[in-house]
Amino acid sequence: MGQIKIGRVLGFEISIDWSWLLIFFLVVYTLASGYFPRFYPELNVATNWGMGVLAALLLFASVLVHELSHSVVSRRYGTEVSGITLFLFGGVSQMTDEPKSAREEFWMAIVGPVMSFALAGLFYVLGGIGEATRWPVPIVAVLGYLAFINLLLGVFNLVPGFPLDGGRVLRSMIWGATNDLARATQWASYSGQGFGYAMMAFGFFMILGGNLIGGLWLIFIGWFLTGAARQSYEQLLMRQALSGVRIDQVMTTDVPEVSAGLSVRQFVDEQLLRHEFSCYPVMEDDHVVGVVGAEEVRTISSDQWERATVGNIMHRIDGAYKVTADDDAWVALTKLAPGNVCRLMVVEDEHLKGTVGRESVFRLIQTKLKLF
Ligand SMILES: [Zn+2]
Repeated sequence: MGQIKIGRVLGFEISIDWSWLLIFFLVVYTLASGYFPRFYPELNVATNWGMGVLAALLLFASVLVHELSHSVVSRRYGTEVSGITLFLFGGVSQMTDEPKSAREEFWMAIVGPVMSFALAGLFYVLGGIGEATRWPVPIVAVLGYLAFINLLLGVFNLVPGFPLDGGRVLRSMIWGATNDLARATQWASYSGQGFGYAMMAFGFFMILGGNLIGGLWLIFIGWFLTGAARQSYEQLLMRQALSGVRIDQVMTTDVPEVSAGLSVRQFVDEQLLRHEFSCYPVMEDDHVVGVVGAEEVRTISSDQWERATVGNIMHRIDGAYKVTADDDAWVALTKLAPGNVCRLMVVEDEHLKGTVGRESVFRLIQTKLKLF
């Protein structure tokens, strides 16, 4: 899914996921047609919509402040945060590393809900001042909503299911007690899945009780939480299996290099039919410039094999195909995962040191998961 970059705050790059736009309109709609008319029936329709938009924008700002608080604490602990993406029900701080200690994770996670509660208090006090000094009713109404929604955000994020903040707090406590990050993540993930299913069940009963919209929201959030909890655990397992493993430990030097000037016929007879590799690095003046395999050969008919060279049919490579020997094997997996890259080139000082195939990375993950 695409993301829109909206700028930098405190040195962090802020993006919003497209899904957030959908949520934004849903929030505006729910507020303008349900929430505000119910509590302030004296206001007209245009005012309700204006209030809806203002409240949704300030909700967006509140979520951003919540996420920034996580990122600032992470940065304090020296963990790199490349950016913040706001999506569905909050945000994700893109950390390039897992937290280094249980203590770091605890403070990094707890600060978010604390910030939401602080915002709730701030809006509540402002609303009180506004009411006492007779600010326009729509302003007071929006402040009241923001106090309520920030309180709700704080409470929701405290649900002890990974990857929500509360789940991270839970994980950090189990991690601190057992010194076992994988087990801590597993328990926090189970807890998240449990809460997700409970929410879905509760939403189902709400629908039976006649509250269709509220019930659907709860089922949706529960479903989302269940998936996120499961995924984050699987990702941690793979990441753990691969972290600390350098590319040069998984790379192979067995794959023959092919010269760009070689005819396709020669390539097929001398390499493709003799080895089991799916694709081969193509060299030009000592530099790797592309990859070639059966897929590229298929792009021309066999009567052209004599005249065409490997250089004519090869897939030119860019940064997405290159890694260095010092890189983490995790980097290799993230580059191979999309599926369109058949083999990574390990390049150092412009020279090809070896290649990394998908099979070797997955074999490594499997072996390590069996061992630990
Ligand atoms: Zn948070």
